[in-house]
Parts: sequence; structure tokens; C-alpha cells
Amino acid sequence: MSPAIDPAGAVAECRAASHVDGCRIAVLGAGVIGLATALALRQRGHTVGVFESQAAGHGSSWAGAGILYPLLPWDYDATVNHWCARGMALQPTWLAGLRQAVGIDPEYRVTGMRVVDGWTTAAAAWLRRHGHAHRRDGADLVLPEVAQVRNPRLIDALLGACRTAGVALHQNLGPVHPLVAVQRARGVRWAAGEWHADAVVLCAGAWSGVLEGLAALPVYPVRGQMLALRAPELPAEIVYEDGRYLVPRRDGVVLLGATLEHAGFDAATTRRAAASLLAWAQRQHPALTAERVIRHWSGLRPGSRRNHPLVGAHPEIEGLWLNTGHFRYGLTMAPACAEALATQITAMG
Ligand SMILES: Cc1cc2nc3c(=O)[nH]c(=O)nc-3n(C[C@H](O)[C@H](O)[C@H](O)COP(=O)(O)OP(=O)(O)OC[C@H]3O[C@@H](n4cnc5c(N)ncnc54)[C@H](O)[C@@H]3O)c2cc1C
Repeated sequence: MSPAIDPAGAVAECRAASHVDGCRIAVLGAGVIGLATALALRQRGHTVGVFESQAAGHGSSWAGAGILYPLLPWDYDATVNHWCARGMALQPTWLAGLRQAVGIDPEYRVTGMRVVDGWTTAAAAWLRRHGHAHRRDGADLVLPEVAQVRNPRLIDALLGACRTAGVALHQNLGPVHPLVAVQRARGVRWAAGEWHADAVVLCAGAWSGVLEGLAALPVYPVRGQMLALRAPELPAEIVYEDGRYLVPRRDGVVLLGATLEHAGFDAATTRRAAASLLAWAQRQHPALTAERVIRHWSGLRPGSRRNHPLVGAHPEIEGLWLNTGHFRYGLTMAPACAEALATQITAMG
């Protein structure tokens, strides 16, 4: 999103009012995007508070599959592929840094991905042009460099790294909204209080379009249902076909996903979705029966126009910044978008 106003005024004021260690910045939302942004801002010397309506890290970021790849990149435009490629390049160092900071292993592993019936000359040409390793296996396309991460562990590592770095985390507040006066963000407010800040970063995932006091942003919920099964004998690679996938974890759990549903903010799970996912999984591996299911859940992806994340200054409100709308790729893009936005905010200050 390109800014319609120059936010430099707001940040210049922040510099004038400056704390010894940079600006005072409120991050609204504690998913992977909010936590990664908070950490990147703190690492650049700002005073950072994160404000979360529920328990931190229990939104889409917890629910996702953790595939660090844009699934079929040849189907996407340059913007989606830019953020994914930058995120993929940063992930190994970023995740190693988190692990080192707090001793929690996010289980980053390069397991590769098999795209069932995915070999096409167009896909192969795209992969060659962009330097992605690939090979043909019958009708399948194999991408040996695709990596994965284990979402709950990534969130725990990020939460630990934020705390260690001195980010103040405020959870279970109920809905938090930007505090806006005269077209300028002044902090955040919730039912029981407010926190004044020089800048506010909006990282509310699928809820980013419905915050009070702001004209609706083009971000909307897209429900995804997932199942976890215990099936230790499966191969180690990710298997993908037509939007559905199997993601084998290290300990014999395999994730099966995901639906793409426009159900508003209803995060219910349905038997129909489970049956449809299981029917597909059994065609891949007959051992994946309903008896092996250990959990069924859903998450709300932050959908956006053309799947483009909104990363940058709000077009109308000074001091308000956006990092949202990452749709199916938020885990993949997180370090790239956090780095870019934190650098932009810091450069303004
Ligand atoms: C089933 C599924 C599978 C996925 N698989 C992958 C994958 O394999 N790879 C990949 O890269 N991505 C994947 N994704 C997408 C990825 O999970 C999202 O893009 C990413 O988690 C978005 O992160 P976020 O921090 O913006 O959102 P969230 O994690 O949803 O965090 C937003 C936070 O904001 C909080 N919030 C909302 N409103 C308010 C408010 N008013 N006040 C305070 N707090 C508020 C919420 O409670 C939440 O904690 C998947 C998603 C789903 C659902």
C-alpha cells in the first residue's frame, strides 16, 4: 500500500519527544506478524508494547501448517513472490537467532515438497528462471528446498525473544483499538485503559478490517480447517495437491489441511470438511484413517486483495502503520515484512 500522506511529521514529533531509546510504539495484535514486528522494532531501539485481545499467539499463526513456501509460486504475482522469497531467505538465520535467544527450537526443517501431478513445463520454466531446485518424478514435481516450521514452537520462541528483549506484552485485554485524534494515531485503547504512543502498528490479522474508529481496510477472514493425525510411518516430505497438503512433523504427527472458506468470523470446525480432507489424505496414504485423528481445528487467515500484504504507512492517519493481510503466507513472510516495516519506521524517526 503506498502512503497517501507523508508520515514523517508524526515521526519527527516522536524524535522531538524522544525517549532515550527511540520512539514509543504500540503494536496491536500478538500473532506471528505482531510479535516479529515488535521484536524488530525493539532491536532498533524503540520502546515497544504489544496489545492483544486474547492470549498471545492463538490466532491464525497458531493454526497454520508452517510451510515456508508460497505453495505454487508460478501462480502468483511478483509482490507475493517478493515477500515470500525475502522471508524464505531470512528464515534460517532469524529462527536460529530465536532459538539461541530463548532455547526453544521452532523445528525449522528442510523436508522438501512433492506436488502431486504438478509437473508442467510452465512451472519448470518458472522454477528454472528463479533458481529454485526442482525435479520431475513421473507426473509429480519435487521441490527439495521447501522448509517447514512448527507453529506453536515458533510462537513460544517469539514470545520468549520479545520478553527477553524488553517488549512489554499485554494480553487478554478484550478488543483493542487505535486511539486516533485529528487524523493522527496517539496510542491504543481498550475497555479498561489506554496506552499513549508515538506510533501504532496494526497487526490484527483477519480482524484488521473491523477495528473501531478506522475506515475498513481491505482485509477479511478466510477460514482454514486442519486435522492432526498420528502416523509415524509416513515419508518426511510435504505432499501437496490442489490446495490440500500433508505436513509430517518430526515426532510422527502429520498435519492435514486446509480448507479455504468464506464464513465470516465463524471459526467453527465442520464434519464435512474433516471428511473431505480425510478422503483426499487416504488417496495419498491409505493409513491415514479417521481413527488416527488426534485434533481438528480452524484458523482465520487475513485475506487481502490479490493476496498482497499491506506493509507500510496508513494512507490517511499519521503515525499509524500497517503489517497485515498476509493471507496463506504470513509465516513465510513474517521476518521480511517485520524487517521492512521496522526499518521504514526507524528511518522516519
Ligand atoms: C489453516 C491455515 C494454514 C496456514 N498455513 C500456512 C503455511 O503453511 N505457511 C504460511 O506461511 N502461512 C500459513 N497460514 C497463514 C498464516 O497463518 C497467516 O498469514 C499468519 O498467521 C497471519 O499472522 P497474523 O499475526 O497477521 O495473524 P494472527 O495470528 O491471527 O494474529 C492476529 C492477532 O491479533 C489479535 N487481534 C485481533 N483483533 C484485535 C483487537 N481488536 N485488539 C487486540 N488484538 C486483536 C488476534 O487475537 C490475534 O492474536 C495458514 C493459515 C491457516 C488458517
